[in-house]
Amino acid sequence: MDPQTVYEKLGGSSDSEFPTLHSEVARTEGETPYLRHPGVILIAKPDVDIEGLRPFLEGYGEELNFDAYLDDPTPLPPGSLLLKTAGQTCYASFGPKRTYNENAQRYFDNLSSSGHGSVFEHAVFSFFVYGVSRAITHEVVRHRAGTAFSQLSQRFVSGKVLRFVERPEYQDVPTLHKRFEQRIDFLAREYDEVAEELVELQLQGDPRLVAEARTDMRKRVQQSARSVLPNEAETTMVLSANVRAWRHMIEMRTDQHAEREIRDLYFRIFLCLRLLEPMLFGDYDIESFADGTYGATTDWRKI
Ligand SMILES: Cc1cc2nc3c(=O)[nH]c(=O)nc-3n(C[C@H](O)[C@H](O)[C@H](O)COP(=O)(O)OP(=O)(O)OC[C@H]3O[C@@H](n4cnc5c(N)ncnc54)[C@H](O)[C@@H]3O)c2cc1C
Repeated sequence: MDPQTVYEKLGGSSDSEFPTLHSEVARTEGETPYLRHPGVILIAKPDVDIEGLRPFLEGYGEELNFDAYLDDPTPLPPGSLLLKTAGQTCYASFGPKRTYNENAQRYFDNLSSSGHGSVFEHAVFSFFVYGVSRAITHEVVRHRAGTAFSQLSQRFVSGKVLRFVERPEYQDVPTLHKRFEQRIDFLAREYDEVAEELVELQLQGDPRLVAEARTDMRKRVQQSARSVLPNEAETTMVLSANVRAWRHMIEMRTDQHAEREIRDLYFRIFLCLRLLEPMLFGDYDIESFADGTYGATTDWRKI
């Protein structure tokens, strides 16, 4: 299956240098906002310029012709250029016998197939993620090596930014969909009413709710009121990882045994990375599952 076709089918815009798959916001009759699938926005990628190596390369003398390394006519995407430069540093592969950029795919395939994954740790890509439930981000943050997470705090934000995520299994089943909408209307109201009661108690000086700092006052209310929020409350996060970690997470989380919503999230991230850096994610095949989701599989797992 062609990644570009799947990307466009999922609503991706083809001309962006920062691939993005958005998620629309729906509303119940009671005006409670909710989303139906993850939104992923690439917000950061490596900025690479190796021209500064010139004096260093020239320092080896003309006979080695190392400075011609910088005149390779084939441009590479930033992550690929960074990784190839890092890898070729290991063997001082700057001379005419090196692998040129036009054969970079073969170079990365050699690294992947032989498990030299540490080179892939140099390039970091960051995504803003929304339209995901607290249930699955609890699983996302279990990944440690090579990752960084910043997630919306339910202690800090108020009900004004409260949104929900509808399970795919409910979306086209009228009874389940109706229950979902009724439930989140109720829960949004319940959250507001519980918070209001807690503020009242705070104003009366309840020591469990009173704090010195203004932000702590708000936190004391919200850390308590959030107890009524369900797994289907939406969260947002910035999720950064290096290529080695992305590959591992994509393999684990788009697997057929992975949870459906998390598979949807990581497949969308995979598509964005695949389009931007075809050489670093080009060994993956896309498979489609009966539930309408996709997965990405490779022979070179956990490089
Ligand atoms: C389908 C599925 C079902 C799951 N079910 C459960 C469940 O029921 N209960 C549950 O608690 N969790 C569950 N998990 C979570 C799982 O056990 C891992 O915690 C999670 O996937 C993170 O992956 P990782 O361990 O590879 O860590 P990552 O942080 O992604 O690390 C990548 C790799 O680095 C190495 N590494 C990282 N940290 C260390 C370390 N401290 N020491 C040595 N090597 C390290 C390991 O080789 C690791 O695989 C599930 C995951 C999946 C995909």
